[in-house]
Amino acid sequence: MIAATFIRNCFFVFLACFVATPAVSAPVPFKMNDVEYDITVKIDPVNRTLEGKSLITVHRPRELQLLLGAGYEVTQAEFNDGPLGSGREQSNLPHIWNIPFHFRQQIQFLIQWKGVLAPLDTALDHRQTLARPVAVSGVEGTFLPDSSDWYPRIAGQFARYKVSIELPPGQKGLVAGRLIEESDSEQGYRATFEFSQPAEGIDLMAGPYVVDTQMHHNIKQKPVQLRTYFHPQISKLSKDYLDAVKGYLDRYESEIGEYPYSEFSVVSSPTPTGFGMPTLTYLGINVLQLPFIRSTSLGHEVLHNWWGNGVYPDYRSGNWSEGLTTFMADYAYKEQESETAAREMRLDWLRDFAALQPGQDAPLTAFTSRTHGASKIVGYNKAAMFFFMLRDHLGEAVFQRALQGVWATRRFKVTSWQDVQKIFELVSGQSLESFFTQWLNRSSAPAIEIAEVKNAAADSGYNLSITLQQAEPAYQLHVPVAVETQQGSTIHRLDLQQAQQTFTLKLTDKPLAVSLDPDLRLFRQLASGEAPPILREVMVNAATQTVLLSAQADFRKIAETLAAKLQDRKLEIIAPDDPLSAAPTLVIGLQAEIDAWLAAKQLPVRPDETGKKGSAQVWIVTRTGGASLAIISAQDAASLEALIRPLPHYGRQSYLVFDGRQAIERGVWPMQVQKVMVK
Ligand SMILES: [Zn+2]
Repeated sequence: MIAATFIRNCFFVFLACFVATPAVSAPVPFKMNDVEYDITVKIDPVNRTLEGKSLITVHRPRELQLLLGAGYEVTQAEFNDGPLGSGREQSNLPHIWNIPFHFRQQIQFLIQWKGVLAPLDTALDHRQTLARPVAVSGVEGTFLPDSSDWYPRIAGQFARYKVSIELPPGQKGLVAGRLIEESDSEQGYRATFEFSQPAEGIDLMAGPYVVDTQMHHNIKQKPVQLRTYFHPQISKLSKDYLDAVKGYLDRYESEIGEYPYSEFSVVSSPTPTGFGMPTLTYLGINVLQLPFIRSTSLGHEVLHNWWGNGVYPDYRSGNWSEGLTTFMADYAYKEQESETAAREMRLDWLRDFAALQPGQDAPLTAFTSRTHGASKIVGYNKAAMFFFMLRDHLGEAVFQRALQGVWATRRFKVTSWQDVQKIFELVSGQSLESFFTQWLNRSSAPAIEIAEVKNAAADSGYNLSITLQQAEPAYQLHVPVAVETQQGSTIHRLDLQQAQQTFTLKLTDKPLAVSLDPDLRLFRQLASGEAPPILREVMVNAATQTVLLSAQADFRKIAETLAAKLQDRKLEIIAPDDPLSAAPTLVIGLQAEIDAWLAAKQLPVRPDETGKKGSAQVWIVTRTGGASLAIISAQDAASLEALIRPLPHYGRQSYLVFDGRQAIERGVWPMQVQKVMVK
């Protein structure tokens, strides 16, 4: 499951970043159909050369800027039949042509360029690939990300395009769009793609692909060509992928509306990346081989053709598309599995949010794309929970109709949170102003508590009064409260508007206990003790102190390496005899040393879940006073060393047992719901 954490991150990182970072600077409002590219590009992956020619047409031109990356030489540049110049004075600078305002109906550029691409480095991980938006080429794969400025483009403008790709024999390539012409012979491969909607940019992929196809018919019986472009070593997976894509297309067409394109392709990448683009997804060979990808991340990618690459988020006011995609894919699959699995995912979201450090939180309107873990916790998870709460608020049917309304009216349009709000208001017939405003514009989350519960016998039953309180300024919330009686548990929704408010419920059965939002249906700050401690707390909290119990030099050195790997910063080491502060503490030692230290400090003994099982045990508890204490206990130096690679991937666990490098048991301590017994 190490891979699972890694891959999940990888997917989200790439999707978000790809979708959210149009290559050139700030997003500029665009007019439909302004720009068209007609590009022919010839790539030789052996010599890593690229030669391109592009005819660029701009209708109704305004003042604009034409750009091409620094790594290319311009061999021809014309503007309405006149010379344009190379657009730069030094060979290490990008080409930039500033074009003043023109009164013509239409202007055209003709640019020819060539260059040598960077070598493909399959040793790069996804973070490194992301960190450098560089066009790379090699026999195993060519990837020209839009953000590398591999073709001359009008800055900040969406564009329709036609791209013809020429490659040597044995190679195949593609860009997003409809395949309109293709030939494959001893002379080489040639394919032409057309994208007839305004697109954010063009990414080009090529490789030694085996292409498999299946025809699918969409909800309106129009043909949709499904393809896999797989490296030969994984081509046997193609049928399973094509079948899974069909399933997702059917599902989302019935939920939202017609799939907007005539194709969908799954394309393999020699590096461990994960990108979502219109009409295709580009995933690492190793990613595609993971069995769970078809049932999770693939659906998320397919759904981005509606949200993100179908209706475009307006990045100036926040990206709603990741949250909605997470809600309708990742989260929806959990709901389909069971209510328990769905609640578990909501708990994960709230627990991750509770573990955020000061300054890491931000309002949803500030989220554009995922750049680090904290932005995922808000931009994906909080936004997904926003849609979950909105569905609770409006009911399933209205919610569904509103989503269909967003699709029907905003397809291929830049759409803000406010546009989404308007459609939901129109469909539901109610103002959602305070709902949207409080969840989108405020950072943090409401912290709600049961302040008091009183019960009084009344004529034909009981009057149960429940006082709830929350921090100021107050949120407007329908707080679910479970009242237990001998007959079972009933949920009441209390309409909390103020910082403190008392509600009286008339009950026929004697109330025994009251618990607050036990199903976690509100995005809220979990109270201390409510969230089970997880290892992540000592990993992310910069105040964490480390105690190394062993005096053995080799064990101590390994312990230091492990602690540094977990915390990813300079360690603050305190002596075993030092008193523990209010900061989180990480303790590493041999099994006997750990037990002796816990006894000396009068701390709880090792839990039954780990005992002395396996070769090493790891667990975290909350000390009296609220600080967390994580323990790593190993039987010898080799067992400790075996944790260095795997353990950092298990931040979401409360305890683990390792046998060498393998985690043989793990789990999260149960959540402690806020519950008050009725006297
Ligand atoms: Zn996504």
